[in-house]
Amino acid sequence: MSIEVKNVSKIYGEQKALDNVSFVIEPGQIVGFLGPNGAGKSTMMKIITCFIPQTEGQIKVCGFDVTEQPIDVKRHVGYLPEHNPLYLDMYVKEYLDFTAGVYKIANKKERIKEMIEMVGLTIEQNKKIGALSKGYRQRVGLAQAMIHNPDVLILDEPTTGLDPNQLDEIRNLIKRIGKEKTIMLSTHIMQEVEAICDKTIIINKGRIVANDSTQELQKQQSKSIVLTVEFDREVSKTQLEKIDGVSNALNKVSNTWYLEIKSDNVRNNIYQFAMQNELTVLTIQKETQSLENVFKKLTK
Ligand code: ADP
Ligand code: MG
Repeated sequence: MSIEVKNVSKIYGEQKALDNVSFVIEPGQIVGFLGPNGAGKSTMMKIITCFIPQTEGQIKVCGFDVTEQPIDVKRHVGYLPEHNPLYLDMYVKEYLDFTAGVYKIANKKERIKEMIEMVGLTIEQNKKIGALSKGYRQRVGLAQAMIHNPDVLILDEPTTGLDPNQLDEIRNLIKRIGKEKTIMLSTHIMQEVEAICDKTIIINKGRIVANDSTQELQKQQSKSIVLTVEFDREVSKTQLEKIDGVSNALNKVSNTWYLEIKSDNVRNNIYQFAMQNELTVLTIQKETQSLENVFKKLTK
């Protein structure tokens, strides 16, 4: 396994940022770590890369324990932190030289040249980082993360803040890099995992709520149906979830609910429920299901 996370929790003061999280990432995969802001993505990534310790649980990266063998872990992991903190006053090559020095890389010059080519920085290689566009800064960030040729790359929201062209370029670059490395990338954007990830782990409020191949998640979702149902007066979630065939009820607004159902004929049960409870169904409407809806549903 490239990454093994077992029963990991993280508590900041009184805030539980991660709650008994477990997952594995196999070699050669591009895995999306998807969740809304504050879900715990960055926290998990900082722990995997030995930047902060977990409160509980065990993590291994390429077989090395993050608590017991942090130096081995760091040797095998490249990390692009959220917001990509770079030294804006440094020249691209100067910065990469500095990073290569940190990792004590033997033939620095050659390696830097290789990295510049790999991430497509050739035409910008003589500029100061501060003079680069956000897209090119991300390339510098990726070069920095890969300079010591790690097996695993941890990329924290690598495409946030990019314009559509830069977004495409960076996604393609990540896909290309992913052919040779294991990549875990975080995002709060559904389309991102649909575009580049083999597997998707969804996290919400510090807990894993889904973990499957991206394709399987998409397929599952097209199977379940969501109805928007408006009643004439108040009704409770507990009542609605007792209806045969309704697996989940979410309040949309006042007396309007999202009901997740398994098949179309559950509608009859809803009408019957309404009748028995002297309720009127004002509208009933089928929602089109996309992975995006699922994400919203799972993380609301
Ligand atoms: P994400 O990256 O998914 O947006 P984070 O891992 O940054 O989420 O944060 C998870 C939760 O932990 C949030 O509620 C956040 O406010 C809290 N948190 C993150 N870092 C700290 C910290 N250093 N001290 C206290 N709380 C923190
Ligand atoms: Mg974050």
